[in-house]
Amino acid sequence: MSAQSQTLLELDGVETYYGAIQALKGISITVREGEIVTLIGANGAGKSTTLRSINGLNHPRKGTITFQGRDITHDPAHSIVKRGIAQSPEGRKLFPRMSVTENLEMGAFQRRDKAGLAEDMDRVFALFPRLAERRKQKAGTMSGGEQQMCAIGRALMARPKLLMLDEPSMGLAPQLVEEIFGIVQRLNTEQGVSILLAEQNANVALRYAHYGYILENGRVVMEGDAATLTTNEDVKEFYLGLESGGRKSYRNVKHYRRRKRWLA
Ligand code: ATP
Repeated sequence: MSAQSQTLLELDGVETYYGAIQALKGISITVREGEIVTLIGANGAGKSTTLRSINGLNHPRKGTITFQGRDITHDPAHSIVKRGIAQSPEGRKLFPRMSVTENLEMGAFQRRDKAGLAEDMDRVFALFPRLAERRKQKAGTMSGGEQQMCAIGRALMARPKLLMLDEPSMGLAPQLVEEIFGIVQRLNTEQGVSILLAEQNANVALRYAHYGYILENGRVVMEGDAATLTTNEDVKEFYLGLESGGRKSYRNVKHYRRRKRWLA
């Protein structure tokens, strides 16, 4: 992605709490128009909280969030969706007893234009042919992969400029993960939707993203082009599970702390 692309979303020094617990300790990230940006980190690093800070579910106590040049830091969730930010949440959160079509309609609940709505639903079905086949099926009876597709489709019904995805790979077989990421990539290249993707699966995220931020304990500890991050020795060892001698888990915390050069 060229450095000249316009900034779409900017977080500057965002600090977010759950009661007395500080989850984000000064997060600064940028998403440019047309980019796929990924937030990588282990459980509890602060990925979901970053998305919740952006979508208005948990407002920051400090710092600013700017979308298309406008300060949205304290805007309510519904007006953030209206401005063009939609999210497919972690764990998918579909309405299990409602059909695929009804779930998709829920993603467009703020809109009144029937023709546009039908058009968008066709577009979602074209993107996800599996959903088209199952449009009358109750969402709760579908496979994990199909539910993930439905959750992404529902977010797309709001016609977002920025689509946020929280762990779309979670619990899915590798082949399905590739299928879903392939669709996300098409959305980005063919429809120009910018993507902010929270992922524990750094391997797949860095293959599809243009740029990445690595989060640990509520802070960005490293950032860079996906290609640069992929070849970084620490990222390879601790997030991609690769080192010259073979595969290794970053869960070996003691070793991890000793070797973690970027926090030194
Ligand atoms: P995961 O992949 O597990 O969702 P994450 O990187 O998305 O991890 P967050 O869910 O953003 O991490 O959590 C960041 C920190 O905030 C963690 O320390 C977590 O324990 C804490 N936290 C998250 N949700 C709550 C909550 N509802 N109440 C209190 N603390 C919370």
